[in-house]
Order: sequence, then structure tokens, then C-alpha cells
Amino acid sequence: MTQRISTDRPVFSVEFFPPKDEPGEVELWKAIRRLEALDPAFVSVTYGAGGSSRDRTIRTTARIATDTTLVPMAHLTAVSHSVAELRQVVGAYAAAGIRNVLAVRGDPPGDPLGEWVAHPEGLTYADDLVRLVRRLGDFCVGVAAFPYGHPRSADVDSDFARLLAKIRAGADFAISQLFLEPEGFLRLRDRLVAAGCDVPLLPGIMPLTTVRTFHRGPELSGAPLPPALVERLDRYADDPAAFRAAGMDATAELCARLLDEGVCGLHFYTLNRSTATVELVNRLGLAGARSVALSGVG
Ligand SMILES: Cc1cc2nc3c(=O)[nH]c(=O)nc-3n(C[C@H](O)[C@H](O)[C@H](O)COP(=O)(O)OP(=O)(O)OC[C@H]3O[C@@H](n4cnc5c(N)ncnc54)[C@H](O)[C@@H]3O)c2cc1C
Repeated sequence: MTQRISTDRPVFSVEFFPPKDEPGEVELWKAIRRLEALDPAFVSVTYGAGGSSRDRTIRTTARIATDTTLVPMAHLTAVSHSVAELRQVVGAYAAAGIRNVLAVRGDPPGDPLGEWVAHPEGLTYADDLVRLVRRLGDFCVGVAAFPYGHPRSADVDSDFARLLAKIRAGADFAISQLFLEPEGFLRLRDRLVAAGCDVPLLPGIMPLTTVRTFHRGPELSGAPLPPALVERLDRYADDPAAFRAAGMDATAELCARLLDEGVCGLHFYTLNRSTATVELVNRLGLAGARSVALSGVG
């Protein structure tokens, strides 16, 4: 899959979560089909905390592999899994033809900021998961990166050491947590280069379509909420359409700055919708080489 990222022009990729019910499934597949026409480099499906959501991740990713022209990537976490169970999930991915895995540690079920307790026969950190997936087959493995440090890390330096450990464990690329100003991401990218690491680092982008995504995203991710952006957007807090227009402008500006800085691609957190991502991809000219014209899509 790294060939799909490392091209001579920037690409885009998208992230979905497994739908909870039938209407959610319909919504997701509408989004997948709309985005398929723009030829993303890959599409990923997150891995949930419970059994049924996990089954839905495997099913959804497998269906993307068989029913679409898209390159799928399945997420996997170490939460509440023994190593034997992790082997089974990786085996299910392989059997479904999925060759790309994002290996993340995961958060404690229920309270993402609660105490992490490893399964007694499981793994504690993502670098162990990278090594496990690597050992089990010919997978392209990605990991998570945190421009402002993972909320549990003591500081940005120790967090960076952990990212290097994951890459040295065999990760082929990294995707960043969402952020709202480019500096932290660019610093992280420069540090990787200075450390002699040339794996692609994709910025994770959350389109700012609602007041909720604007305030809730940074709260969960640990990325700062830039005061200038708060001043720019909060004046539209009571006008959803005006907020969306201003938020999308701000997101497009962030993306354009990252592209100017030479990032290899943008990874969009879609929340299982397509409209905002399609708009940004069209605005930024990121549709892939195999894209087909979409009529009526702005
Ligand atoms: C792009 C992306 C996709 C994601 N997808 C999912 C998903 O599908 N499902 C889901 O549940 N969550 C997902 N997450 C969230 C992720 O699981 C959490 O942020 C989790 O808390 C950390 O995962 P990690 O892989 O970075 O863990 P790790 O790299 O293991 O890091 C976890 C913490 O432990 C520290 N640490 C790491 N190694 C060591 C060590 N050897 N010794 C001491 N400390 C160490 C780190 O500094 C960090 O503070 C995603 C995050 C991102 C950015």
C-alpha cells in the first residue's frame, strides 16, 4: 500500500467506523461509493471495543475488499484480546484479502482516559502489536502518531521515542491524530526526518463542519484549540450553515498549507459521511488517477 501513498503527487485517504445498525450501514455505503469515484489511496475502518463492533469491522473491511475497487486497511487494537485472539483476527483479515493493517494499542473500554489494563495473555503497547502482525504475514503495517504527544505521555520527547520504537518494530507508515494548526505536525515530520526515518507520515484531518467537531476533537485528541481559530469560528456558533462554510474554509487552508509543505497525502476522518471530504478533495485537486467525474457533487 505504501506505493499508493508514495507517488509523485499528493493523495488522500479516508477513515470510517463500523456502522452500528442498518440505517448506519446504508449511510456508510453511500459514502463509500461516492468516495470510491475519487480514487482514494486507501480506505480504513476503525476497530471498536466490543465483540459485535469488531465483527462489523472485519465484515465491513472484507466487503470493501471484495465489492469495491478500493484498497482497504483494517485497524486492530490490543484491547481485551489475548495474543491467540489477535492472531485469529489477523488471520480473518488475511483470509478476506486484507493486506494493510493499522496497529494501534487502543483505549480502555468505557473511559478512553481511564487506566489501561492489558489482557493477561495480551499485549501492552502498539510496538508489540506491530511485531505480531509483521510475524503473521506479508502485511503493510501503519501506526498512530501524535503531533502534540499522546495524552498519556509525559512529554512530546518521550512520545516521539515511542513513535520511533513503533517504526523500528516494522511500521511502514504513520497516520497522525487530528490537529487544527500545522506547526505541531510539521515539527513531528521534521523530527522523523532528522532521526533518519523516511516512512510516510499522513496528517489526520477532521473537516470542521459543526461546532461540536470543532470543540470535541481537540478535547479527545490533546491537540490545542488555536485561539485565533476560536475567534474566527465561534462567532458563527448559532448559525450552522455559516459555521460550516467558515469551518470548511479553515480546513481547506490547513490542508493547503500542509500540501505546500510537501506532505504525501491527507487522511480524512469522515465520520461515515462523504460530502465534506468530497468538497475538500475537489477543492484541493486530490482526486486520484483512476477517479471518475461525479455529477452534482460540489
Ligand atoms: C490514526 C489513528 C487511528 C486510530 N484508530 C483506532 C481504532 O481503530 N480503534 C481504537 O480503539 N483506537 C484507535 N485510535 C486511538 C488509539 O488507540 C489511542 O490513541 C491509544 O490510546 C494509543 O494507541 P497507540 O497505538 O498510539 O499506543 P502506543 O503507541 O502503545 O502508546 C500508548 C501510550 O503508551 C506509551 N508507550 C508506548 N510504548 C511504551 C513503552 N514501551 N513503555 C512505556 N510507555 C509506552 C505511549 O507514549 C503512549 O502514551 C486511533 C488513533 C489514531 C491516531
